[in-house]
Amino acid sequence: MNPPRETTDLTTDRVARSAGAAAIEQIRDAIQQRQRFLLTSHARPDGDSIGSQLAMAFALDALGKQVRIVNADPAPEHYLEFPGVNRIAIATRVEPDVDAVIVMECSDLSRTGVAGLEREFLINIDHHAGNRMYGAVNWFDESAAACGEMVFDVIKALHVPLTLEIATHIYLAILTDTGSFHHSNITPRTFEICRQAVQAGVNPTAMARGVFDSNSFGKLKLIGALLDSMELVDHGRLAVLYMDDQMLDACGCTHNDTEGLINLPLTAREIQAVVFFKVAPGAEVRVSMRSKYDVDVRVVANKFGGGGHKNAAGFTVQGRLDDVKPRIIEQMTRAIADGLETRPTA
Ligand code: 5GP
Ligand code: MN
Repeated sequence: MNPPRETTDLTTDRVARSAGAAAIEQIRDAIQQRQRFLLTSHARPDGDSIGSQLAMAFALDALGKQVRIVNADPAPEHYLEFPGVNRIAIATRVEPDVDAVIVMECSDLSRTGVAGLEREFLINIDHHAGNRMYGAVNWFDESAAACGEMVFDVIKALHVPLTLEIATHIYLAILTDTGSFHHSNITPRTFEICRQAVQAGVNPTAMARGVFDSNSFGKLKLIGALLDSMELVDHGRLAVLYMDDQMLDACGCTHNDTEGLINLPLTAREIQAVVFFKVAPGAEVRVSMRSKYDVDVRVVANKFGGGGHKNAAGFTVQGRLDDVKPRIIEQMTRAIADGLETRPTA
């Protein structure tokens, strides 16, 4: 397995690394000097974007700041019961009228899908490779397992106590962005933060059930349909999944029901990577990829103008599925071959 990339001081609350310390201080100062904040994250939010934003929101509340949260898309349904999710306004354009905008989980401002932020004082907190450093203050740490880990460090620097609400959202961010502690980038610091979250009252069983065992019957049907139409290529090392609106309708599902489904094929020992094609009615295909160990799907995403992480990446491509698929499969096959060369033994 990957060794941790930095030394983590497990004996105190100080889990921030020295490389990020200056950026954390800058963010702390920028927050302390301002009063009105708008928080945002990427379109089609996931657990890390929801968790990072709401942990930050509750921390800013504790400091007596004014907080608005604006996202381009609503949270997936199984997150609606988490504290504060109803505070997230949905809009694709805003007139901020705030002192600062904190953008979490976005390598580029356009990832927010929210227009009107360009001229604001931007605080950029992110862990996606290729972050464009678009903020007035930037903290980019690719080694963080979740953006929520970074938000945790900022909250500590602000001396805000880890309330149950904050701890819940930090844990949610980490639980989901590590794919339930499966992906790379999990370090002692990941568990140290989770330890503190649990100590603050988070119930890991309830969190896991709430996030992963809250499927509708429709989603179970969709799992069946997806796996039924799954193709195996590259000697069974690559799983290919397809989905379109017709399949969703037949199962009584929406796009919000699709989170996490991409991980299912990885439970088969032989399968090293998954590519999931979501075909939209226009001439556009949304592509999500997941992989094991050193199979680097971000490299594939980068070739098609997307991004993400080594084990989870995505992009959107113009064209018909039949036209774009062979090129994508070819790149995935190459990534698998490259990744298997350095495959760890246990
Ligand atoms: P998902 O497959 O869940 O949509 O995305 C997996 C990961 O890849 C996420 O970390 C996400 O931020 C990143 N990602 C997905 N689509 C894109 C994209 O179009 N552009 C960039 N830069 N990153 C993406
Ligand atoms: Mn993330």
